[in-house]
Amino acid sequence: MNFTEFLNFSHGNAKLKKRLIFSIPAGKTCPGALYCKSFAVIQPDGKRKIQDGKDTKFRCFAASSEVQYDAVYNLRATNMELLMQSVINASMADLIDASIQHHRRKNERLVRIHESGDMFSLGYLLAWIEVAKRNPDMIFYCFSKSLDLFLGLELPSNFYLTASKGGKFDYLIDEGHFPRYSVVVKTEEEAAALGLEIDHDDSHCLGDKPFALLVHGTQPKGSDWGKAIHARRKAGKFTGYSTKTAVSK
Ligand code: SF4
Repeated sequence: MNFTEFLNFSHGNAKLKKRLIFSIPAGKTCPGALYCKSFAVIQPDGKRKIQDGKDTKFRCFAASSEVQYDAVYNLRATNMELLMQSVINASMADLIDASIQHHRRKNERLVRIHESGDMFSLGYLLAWIEVAKRNPDMIFYCFSKSLDLFLGLELPSNFYLTASKGGKFDYLIDEGHFPRYSVVVKTEEEAAALGLEIDHDDSHCLGDKPFALLVHGTQPKGSDWGKAIHARRKAGKFTGYSTKTAVSK
């Protein structure tokens, strides 16, 4: 199948080097999200605002970015539209694969699935698994809270899932189904108390143990999470790492 329009991928930055990064709208595509759930909504005057879920404790950084930046919002919305169209016209796997081949640079072997968004359906997850199988020279990795979809699936050896705590299916992590998982913490001290290393560059996503992520982003006013960020910033400890990874995944 020849595609006239490809999905948008970005290329790695200073912290996440040499990789393709894919995103879809935050919150709206995250059926398993709970404590992080936030999304951008368009108001009657056309402006966007952030909306938190009823259980939100720490706000999704990716959703805040969609409120702040037109380009970010539009790019992720376009990706979602193209994925939906592909179900009718071709297949999601074909579109994703063709888009990767279109964007891929010589030195890029890694694909981060979702700086923003999550596995919104089994069909979508299976499409990514199929793409990983078609590209055995590449490594695909994702954080996910859609853990019910992964249960019982055999992932190819070049597909790395990190189960993300803070969602509806945390109990599956607690039951031991996902040995590599991530936990969002307020401080380095909290991570140390849990016996977890803090990840700053996604390297732990390819490891074999759980890890912690420091909360970032714009948090609900007066929340403990916001206060923790403020305290870290005041103490000069803020790393400035600002992808979704650092927020909840
Ligand atoms: S942090 Fe991740 S799972 Fe949670 S709402 Fe944002 S994109 Fe979805």
